[in-house]
Amino acid sequence: TKLVYSFNDGNREMRETLGGKGANLSDMTNLGLPVPPGFTVSTKACNKYFEEGQTLTETLIQDIRDELAKVEKSLGKKLGGDENPLLVSVRSGAPVSMPGMMDTILNLGLNDKTVEAVAMETKNKRFAFDCYRRFIQMYGDVVLGVPHYRFERKLEILKQNAGVSEDTKLDAESLKELSEDYKQIIKKETGEDFPQNPEEQLLKAVEAVFASWNNQRAKLYRQINKIPGHYGTAVNVQAMVYGNMGDTSGTGVLFTRNPSTGENKLYGEFLLNAQGEDVVAGIRTPKPISQLKQVMPEVYKELNDISYKLEEHYRDVQDIEFTIEQGRLFMLQTRNAKRTAAAAVRIAVEMVNDKILTKEEALLRVDASQLDKLLHRQIDEGSHVDHIATGLPASPGAATGALVFSADEADKLTEKGEKVILIRPETTPDDIHGIVAAEGILTQRGGMTSHAAVVARGMGKPCVCGCEALNIDLIDKTVKIGDKVFKEKEVFTIDGATGNVISGTVDLIDPELSKELMTFLGWADDIRQLNIRTNADTPKDAKKAREYGAQGIGLCRTEHMFMAQDRLPIVQEMILSDSKKKQQEALDKLLPFQKEDFYGIFKAMAGLPVTIRLLDPPLHEFLPNAEELSKEITKMKEEGSPIYKIKEKEQTLKRIKSLHESNPMLGHRGCRLAIVHPEIYEMQVEAIFSALKELHKEKIEVVPEIMIPLVGEARELKLVKDIVLKVADSYSDLGIEYKIGTMIELPRACVTADEIAEHADFFSFGTNDLTQTTFGYSRDDAEGKFLPAYIDKKILPENPFVSIDEKGVGVLIDLGVSKGRNVKKDLKVGICGEHGGDPKSIEFCQKVGLNYVSCSPFRVPIARLAAAQSFV
Ligand code: ADP
Ligand code: MG
Ligand code: MG
Repeated sequence: TKLVYSFNDGNREMRETLGGKGANLSDMTNLGLPVPPGFTVSTKACNKYFEEGQTLTETLIQDIRDELAKVEKSLGKKLGGDENPLLVSVRSGAPVSMPGMMDTILNLGLNDKTVEAVAMETKNKRFAFDCYRRFIQMYGDVVLGVPHYRFERKLEILKQNAGVSEDTKLDAESLKELSEDYKQIIKKETGEDFPQNPEEQLLKAVEAVFASWNNQRAKLYRQINKIPGHYGTAVNVQAMVYGNMGDTSGTGVLFTRNPSTGENKLYGEFLLNAQGEDVVAGIRTPKPISQLKQVMPEVYKELNDISYKLEEHYRDVQDIEFTIEQGRLFMLQTRNAKRTAAAAVRIAVEMVNDKILTKEEALLRVDASQLDKLLHRQIDEGSHVDHIATGLPASPGAATGALVFSADEADKLTEKGEKVILIRPETTPDDIHGIVAAEGILTQRGGMTSHAAVVARGMGKPCVCGCEALNIDLIDKTVKIGDKVFKEKEVFTIDGATGNVISGTVDLIDPELSKELMTFLGWADDIRQLNIRTNADTPKDAKKAREYGAQGIGLCRTEHMFMAQDRLPIVQEMILSDSKKKQQEALDKLLPFQKEDFYGIFKAMAGLPVTIRLLDPPLHEFLPNAEELSKEITKMKEEGSPIYKIKEKEQTLKRIKSLHESNPMLGHRGCRLAIVHPEIYEMQVEAIFSALKELHKEKIEVVPEIMIPLVGEARELKLVKDIVLKVADSYSDLGIEYKIGTMIELPRACVTADEIAEHADFFSFGTNDLTQTTFGYSRDDAEGKFLPAYIDKKILPENPFVSIDEKGVGVLIDLGVSKGRNVKKDLKVGICGEHGGDPKSIEFCQKVGLNYVSCSPFRVPIARLAAAQSFV
């Protein structure tokens, strides 16, 4: 098999072999764009490298030599040549883009001799040694494992001594001195001299890039983004072009549309007299691309033309890296741009309007699970908060948290449950774990294309960068803004949409759907078959869900109403009462409350179906904690409280103890409550119908669906249904239409669904409990104690409480649906439970022919899109 490909041989279909960067470098070469020549060592070679115990095979080395010779020939330069030496970059590039997570080395081929040759030929000694010191540092870091701060410290000192703040101000002699110092650092750290043989440099660099596939941050990034570890990375070896040859040279990064908002306008940054990494690493804050128009109008025009050509070619927004060498433009990379959810939606809509994409294609372009990022609470623009500084609006959203000054600290505090804002002079890819942990990121330097910004946008994390007003002291862990000093752990709020930085917390408001999102979801609605309902227990949630497009309530849990502060004492009274009479009195007191609840919810959902689940949890969930109560009793005794009061408490304690269950999840709950205590359900149904009666008077139409939980045997349903019917019949004169159905959440219910369907107007799969009972896992214990190990050891592919386990639970659902529909052809079937808002599970629901999914209000837009995507 071929292991090395010239840029002339590849194409964009070959991502898997050439990596994304390599495939697109070939593609751009084929398009005739100005790409420096080079070749790609394939991902196959990478995997082989690991299989062979991390050695490069002779064949591979020979292939690399052959391809290198072609590059040398085409440029008339030679790697390590005494005259006109060729320098190359050695660049990582995986099949899936992992920006900044792996390593790249520039200016390879320099040594004590070739650096002089470069200086001579270019008549620019400063440039030659600028390349050399950069090369020694990168090689030292990537290949030899010498930490980069060792070098940076030297550079800082040198700058200080020279009295300059930017490295562009250092002269040739200083840079030469610096490269000597760097070589010594390497000697001291590794015990060996910096390698002078260019071929050795090249092969070692290739190995190091292979190895960087498995560095900590790359692994973490793959884990977060679910990228398989077997892909491996390709290595691109490419002739260098120089952005650091003075003020007619430079380097930059460009998006064909704004990756934060989606605005259709070139968006990018550049630095003059700089090399690639400088822009993204945030060493200097770069200039906006619009300024390039003034500095180099012709280059700008060419770049502009190429950008549009690439966007048209890939039919997607491009993220482009370029370098200008003495007024000549070179393209170094293009890829589909990472973007925020807001940008993704706007771009998809505008590309349909511009006839670049069809609606169906556009719907598939937006990751459904990303949409919840659009629905996060935002800073209330009307509340006029004063900001203390402003940076670049790098990734929208508001975040509040305690300031921390390092990624490790962010990680540590977050583990303890604190919310933090990570503040850094700039971020490096090594900070990724801190970015993951933090609520938001704030940096002093670096532009919108810096690592921090790119990674934050990808994760939908608020980020403000390039906030020059910050004066950060990492040793003292303080930040000075103007004349105010803020310490570690002080609370800050950042607004990634405006770039504002605020001291303290800020009022947040619920988000609204943007015009573009409405249009976009409208297209999804036209296509999807599944109805989307919501899980809502209050009129407020119901209204919100309706705004987000819910077509009814799929699950209204009544126990939440029992928990409310003004109800709980009455509920306890009902449970603890020692006579039927007292119990009924308590229920009578609860009735008006429940009626009011249902009235509000029905009204908010006027015209739409509302599924109300009768009481489900075991009764002791409503009672005080036994341990606390017995402590209280002991204390009362010590304090000599009146005996009758103590007796009363002791009665309660006894009752609580008698209600104790060893396995509440499998205990006395659901319809089993109604079998023993029919009065509770009677009261609830009475509340439902008296609310309906009132709405009937107001001529507000509702479609109530009364749902009985935890049925495992048809006769259970029959009996409980009769309880409901008895109450409903007393309202028959109103002629209200209603349905009675059941939750299917036990394996036995799935298996006997045909019998159950005889008594049910609808089924709703309660997949949380069905997953628990099918696996025999109690969710809280599983997620806390052993599921992570199961996933780690690959026993399960993922958490079955997040995405439906199709092999087990899914088969039961399928069985339940078909058995049920065998008996009742039109049986309405839905799913409630958290899976209803999970795109992958929604796809499954579409496949097994459910009528609707029900999810929390904030996930309704996600479900609308996912339902469409599963049907496109
Ligand atoms: P990453 O995957 O981290 O973006 P790259 O391989 O793209 O790493 O390299 C980073 C930067 O190095 C590029 O954006 C570019 O500016 C610079 N670079 C890479 N190869 C060359 C080259 N042949 N000539 C000049 N600059 C280069
Ligand atoms: Mg790059
Ligand atoms: Mg349940």
